Amino acid sequence: MKRRTFLLTLVVISLSAVPVLAAPYKALIVTGQNAHDWKGTTPVLKQLLEETGLFTVDVAQSPAKGEDMSSFKPEFKNYHVVVLNYQGDSWPEETKKAFVDYVKNGGGVVVYHFACAAFPDWPEYNEIIGLGGWGNRNEKWGPYVRWRNGRVEFDFSPGRGGGHGPMQPFAIDVRYPEHPIMKGLPPRFMHVPDELYGWLRGPAKNLTVLATAFAPKDKGGSDEHEPILFTVEYGKGRVFFNALGHTANELKSVAFIVTYQRGAEWAASGKVTQPVPDDFPTADEARVRP
Ligand code: ZN
Repeated sequence: MKRRTFLLTLVVISLSAVPVLAAPYKALIVTGQNAHDWKGTTPVLKQLLEETGLFTVDVAQSPAKGEDMSSFKPEFKNYHVVVLNYQGDSWPEETKKAFVDYVKNGGGVVVYHFACAAFPDWPEYNEIIGLGGWGNRNEKWGPYVRWRNGRVEFDFSPGRGGGHGPMQPFAIDVRYPEHPIMKGLPPRFMHVPDELYGWLRGPAKNLTVLATAFAPKDKGGSDEHEPILFTVEYGKGRVFFNALGHTANELKSVAFIVTYQRGAEWAASGKVTQPVPDDFPTADEARVRP
């Protein structure tokens, strides 16, 4: 009896001595130019990472479009994950090299929505993001990635790179349920009305499809299962691509929030410790947070 009390006391003392743990990962959101509303989405992307308790988040804001970019030199290597919310003028050569080195050496990347339209003429960028759209991309950039007959197929047929029909609600189908980002999510879940990205093309090297969404022709789609969430391995780096989230309004979708938060943790660390929340969407019903 006495011994047990003594042990309990020891446990209590050692627990109270544990300091409050700081967020383990540093994230950098790169933005400042984007044909999309980067001013509206960036604070939300930052908040969503911070609320996990896993990240401290900095924002690297580039000069405005057309201005001198030579001073834009984010210290990528000081971070575990870089979130790309950028589409605009070329970065200085030194910055491009620093970014490629960062990923090669094991840095994490989250490609968010229209970042897949950036830098069509930067080959390493196209490899890092896996698939891209717009910016005059076509078959010269690589194949479409299709989910057909229960597996991934590359489609080298000529045609545009990037497109979508009008905003529409759509279901997301998990294709790799054992991947850390997807583990525990239901096999199908609904997203709010959003752009359903299609016809993305690119080198698609070392690309792993995590989830697709069917884009019906009568809603402006390809009539294919489009890759919406996927990963790319580039050197030692981990890249997570999330095609969702046209504006801050679509970032309220729990389908976006959870895949973004889990994808960022995986890109930063190679693992996912976040539980699936109770308000996760179902196969029939999208969910939003205020
Ligand atoms: Zn968009």
